[in-house]
Amino acid sequence: MPRTVIPLNEQRTLPIPPATARGAGVAADTRGRALRDLRISVTDRCNFRCVYCMPREVFHADYPFLPHDEVLSFEEIVRLAGVFHGLGTEKIRLTGGEPLLRKGIDKLVAMLRAELPAVDLTLTTNGSALKAHARALKAAGLDRITVSLDSLDEATFQKMNDADFPVAKVLEGLDAAAAAGLAPIKVNMVVKRGVNDHQVVDMARHFRGSGHIVRFIEFMDVGSTNGWRMDDVIASAEIVRRIGAQFPLEPAQANYTGEVAERWRYRDGQGEIGVISSVTQAFCGTCTRARLSTDGHLYTCLFAQRGYDLKSLLRGGASDESLGGAVDAIWRGRDDRYSEIRTAATARDRKVEMSFIGG
Ligand code: SAM
Repeated sequence: MPRTVIPLNEQRTLPIPPATARGAGVAADTRGRALRDLRISVTDRCNFRCVYCMPREVFHADYPFLPHDEVLSFEEIVRLAGVFHGLGTEKIRLTGGEPLLRKGIDKLVAMLRAELPAVDLTLTTNGSALKAHARALKAAGLDRITVSLDSLDEATFQKMNDADFPVAKVLEGLDAAAAAGLAPIKVNMVVKRGVNDHQVVDMARHFRGSGHIVRFIEFMDVGSTNGWRMDDVIASAEIVRRIGAQFPLEPAQANYTGEVAERWRYRDGQGEIGVISSVTQAFCGTCTRARLSTDGHLYTCLFAQRGYDLKSLLRGGASDESLGGAVDAIWRGRDDRYSEIRTAATARDRKVEMSFIGG
């Protein structure tokens, strides 16, 4: 039975709170969390149909993706990124949808780098077009890259991406990124019980000693189309146990406060893995991430239902100062802590899709 979906561009918009006198320094929300990271979805389209993200029965051939004029232009993205940087944002991740599908993506990277030389600039990709783009992205000023790969086993990977895309091509992209100097590379594996969890140890084995860091991600209830059930989640603790039984692990210190992945290093010095436990060990308390959707709405939580329309402000002629005042006021009012209060009922809420606000 096809599931119904409300097109992403019929999202509900929150009113932007009035700007108040800005405090000195970095904006902090109602829980004292600073605005340090910005994830920008540069396209809501993807060439994969991962079952946990953009299931084909929903994102089918007639799916109403955003029309061109609703999508933020490069100039608009760079301007908003500058506004966020002015409020303390130090890290920017380009994502989507599949960011390498956005025409001229390396030009956007170059524009961001020129405007914000000190920012940590990264990108998350499914790797399908990485071989062709890796050198240009590095030359344009990208610092690092994250490649999603859910299995090394061909049948399992294709079952997950539902686009007949072969493992070998992703690995070629990964090698090209490493050769271009986009290292250390992080490899994201979403673990879904009964689908690819038998591949957890194989993934760890394959990337041990390579310098790349595999991050095992708990299957999350993002959006409302992926049929999420708690029963399908493999807890990170179980993942660490399974890998540790083969290759002994020890905990490693976080690189910085608010790091999403919990780090574990191989006792024999062959590198490290990360686990991202949004479901079983919520990290809302240290979440410093904002998300800008493809059509210029600001979301203050990955599990949000509504966003703030910055694009209308921007296209209505707002100055950088008033855009900054709006973002500052939104952030100061932020009280999201979805993962801490997740229940079976909230998991069924109509939340915005990850491909739209950026994973
Ligand atoms: N297309 C790019 C890619 O595949 O990496 C970027 C966008 S994708 C939405 C970003 C990341 O979100 C990927 O690593 C993907 O595996 C992860 N992701 C998507 N849906 C998820 C879910 N339901 N639970 C956990 N991670 C998810």
